[in-house]
Amino acid sequence: MQSSNPKKQVTVIGAGISGLTTAVLLQDEYDVTIVSREFPGELKDGYASPWAGAHWRSSAELEDIRQQGFDRETFIHFWNFACTRPSETGVMIVDGFDYWDELPLGWNDPWFKDLCPEYRHLTKDELPANVEFGIKYKTVTFNPAKHLSYLLARFYALGGTTKKITLSHIQEAIFDNTDIVINCSGLGSRNLGGVQDQDVYPASGQTVLVQLPIGHVNWTFLRYVATSAIRSSEIFNYVIPRDNGEVILGGTYMNLISISSIVSHPSSTTPDAKIADRIIERCLSTRPDLLPEGETKLNIKRHGVGLRPVRKNGIRIEAEWILSEKTGKKILLCHNYGHGGYGWQSSYGASLHVIQTVKQTLREGHEQSSNIGVKL
Ligand SMILES: Cc1cc2nc3c(=O)[nH]c(=O)nc-3n(C[C@H](O)[C@H](O)[C@H](O)COP(=O)(O)OP(=O)(O)OC[C@H]3O[C@@H](n4cnc5c(N)ncnc54)[C@H](O)[C@@H]3O)c2cc1C
Repeated sequence: MQSSNPKKQVTVIGAGISGLTTAVLLQDEYDVTIVSREFPGELKDGYASPWAGAHWRSSAELEDIRQQGFDRETFIHFWNFACTRPSETGVMIVDGFDYWDELPLGWNDPWFKDLCPEYRHLTKDELPANVEFGIKYKTVTFNPAKHLSYLLARFYALGGTTKKITLSHIQEAIFDNTDIVINCSGLGSRNLGGVQDQDVYPASGQTVLVQLPIGHVNWTFLRYVATSAIRSSEIFNYVIPRDNGEVILGGTYMNLISISSIVSHPSSTTPDAKIADRIIERCLSTRPDLLPEGETKLNIKRHGVGLRPVRKNGIRIEAEWILSEKTGKKILLCHNYGHGGYGWQSSYGASLHVIQTVKQTLREGHEQSSNIGVKL
C-alpha cells in the first residue's frame, strides 16, 4: 500500500566531507541521491576532502559564536567515534600542540580551552627551539580516505543512491521527483550555474605525505612561524598523523583569488620541491621525535597540493526557493559550502545546521510561497 505521505526526495550535490555528512544525516527522514563529479577514492583538484590532514584545531575567533557551535558539535561527534569505533571510522585521539615563534600581541586562550580535555600552557622546557609560547590539549585526527569511504558505505547501507555527473547548472540536479537540493559542491560553487558565488575561491596548501610505523606519532602540532621569517605563503607548519601510520607534513596557504579558472591552472597544484624540503626540515627541527630511532630520513609517499574551498565571510548555509525549469515545481535549495581550511573540523555541526534550516524552511514554505526566488 502506498503511504499517504511519501518521503521527500533530496539531491545532494557533492561527495566531500560536507556532502556525505549532510546526506547521511538527511537519510533519517528523506530519500537521498548524491550527484557528484568525484567520489571517495579519487584524488583530484577541486575535491578538497581527501587532501586534508586532517585534524581538529578550531580557528574560530572568540566572537564567532556560529562557527564555534559548528566546531564544538563536530568535536563531540568525532571524539565519540574515536572512543567507540576508531578503526572503522579512521578517527583517533592525539595530543595537540600549538606553537608560536612569537606570541601575537593581545593573545587570548582559544575558545575551546574548556572543550578539549587537558588544555594547558606548555612550560619553557617543553617548547621546541626558537618557540616562544605553546599550548597542549587532547584533540582528534582523521584519516580522510577511510572516513569518506566509511560515510559512503553507510549512505549505501541506509538505501542511498549515487550518480556520477558533472553539473553545469543547479537545474541538472532536479530529477522527476526531486523536492529538495542541497548544494555541497565546495569550490564548484564558484562556477556552477544558478550559484556562481564569486566570494568562493581556492587557497592552495602544499603537503608531504610520509609513512611511519603505526602508532609512532600520537601527537599533532601546528606552529605559527615568526613574522620576520615568513615567506608569503609559509605562515605555519604542521604534522598530522593518521591511524594507518601515514603522517601529513605541511604546509602552505596561498590565496589563488586572482585565478579565475583554477582547475585549468597547472602551476597552482604542482608541488614545489624547495617548499617541500623546507616543510620537512621545519617539521623535523620542531619535533625531532618525528623520525623513528635509528632512521636517517623520512619515507615519503607523495608530494601534493590541495585546494581549500574558501569563502569570504565563511560557510554559506542558506535556503532559497527556486522553480524547476522542466516542470515549474517549487524546489527548496539549501547551500552548504565555503568551508575553507576547516571543513573536516566543522563538518558535522554545519550539516546539523543544514538539516535544521531545511526543516524550518519547509515549515515556513507555505507562508513564503509567493516569495519564490527570494533568499529566506
Ligand atoms: C592541504 C589541506 C589541509 C587541510 N587540513 C584540514 C584540517 O586539518 N582540518 C580541517 O578541518 N580541514 C582541513 N582542510 C580543509 C578541508 O579539506 C575542506 O574544508 C573540506 O574538505 C571541504 O569539504 P567539502 O565537502 O565542502 O568540499 P570538497 O571536498 O571539495 O567536495 C566538493 C564536492 O563537490 C563535487 N562537485 C564540485 N563541483 C561539481 C559539479 N559542477 N558537478 C558535480 N559535482 C561537483 C566534487 O566532485 C566533490 O565531490 C584542509 C585542506 C587542504 C587542501
